Amino acid sequence: AVVRPDPESEAELAFEGALRPSSLEEFVGQQKVRRQLQLLLEAASLQNRSPDHILLAGPPGLGKTTLAMIVAHEGARPLRMTSGPAIQHAGDLAAVLSSLVPGEVLFVDEIHRMARSAEEMLYLAMEDFRVDIMVGKGAGATSIPLELAPFTLVGATTRSGLLPNPLRDRFGFTAHLEFYEPEELLRVITRAAALLRFEIGQDALTEISGRSRGTPRIANRLLRRVRDFALVNGGPADRDAVQAALELYDVDDWGLDRLDRAVLTAIVDRFAGGPVGLSTLAVSVGEEAETIEAVVEPFLVRTGLLSRTPRGRVATPRAWQHLGRRPEPTALD
Ligand code: ADP
Repeated sequence: AVVRPDPESEAELAFEGALRPSSLEEFVGQQKVRRQLQLLLEAASLQNRSPDHILLAGPPGLGKTTLAMIVAHEGARPLRMTSGPAIQHAGDLAAVLSSLVPGEVLFVDEIHRMARSAEEMLYLAMEDFRVDIMVGKGAGATSIPLELAPFTLVGATTRSGLLPNPLRDRFGFTAHLEFYEPEELLRVITRAAALLRFEIGQDALTEISGRSRGTPRIANRLLRRVRDFALVNGGPADRDAVQAALELYDVDDWGLDRLDRAVLTAIVDRFAGGPVGLSTLAVSVGEEAETIEAVVEPFLVRTGLLSRTPRGRVATPRAWQHLGRRPEPTALD
């Protein structure tokens, strides 16, 4: 699974669950997407039918799972959650689909990692609420059509480019989630601190929101680390505590973490600033190419530290500066 390198312990997951907004109204930011979803849900409810299938695309931690839960919650619909990697055969999908109750919301996280054979079954299910189940083998094999209850598929992906067109086309609505502005993250963690009854200064919250990679999940986690820090050290949760805690967890002034910096450092130090191909880069930092592409790069691109060119990844002058290095003079200088 594509997750940040920090462990997804039970405690982290329970903590995330406790902070999830349960309505579109409470969901911070992504205003356009929220209004689009609102319209889609209202139209469905007026017509007394299941909302159209929804695809949510964007880097991890921006609220895809939360939105899927909101879609179910706002329509008072049951929710079933699964993920692409859990669907390795068409049969796995058939089992899920055939057990849905009418109007259920089916959330498939990392939908781009589902087995090919299941994808094909899904096309028909999304379009006609029907699947063809293959029975028997070889010449004696027949397919038996099976009617499904109407449902709403909510797919999430960090890599919408990897979805085959026929699948992408079957979603009535695709939302591309964007990184959040610091002011928006400030709202996310101000709410979280209140829910946690954690007394923390305004400037400390501001500091956290500026160093969270534009990502609510990271902002909430940093808030928790700062709470730990204040608890253990017995001091106030102020800006100094934030700085000390973030230093301890290797988060720098711009919110880059260890892996972000490892990627930039590799490009600059080992490949003279690039261009370097994704797979070479991945090997050189000891990470999966998919993680680099879906998790690390979007934020580096968005902060202007990295550019993706047809010939490979290039560190921008800003990246050299951030790492405290000077680009080698080239023949052109
Ligand atoms: P994804 O599925 O995209 O990886 P999640 O939906 O699991 O992300 O969100 C991660 C965490 O961030 C959750 O704890 C959630 O409460 C919080 N979060 C995400 N988006 C928002 C938002 N817009 N407003 C408030 N909290 C958010």
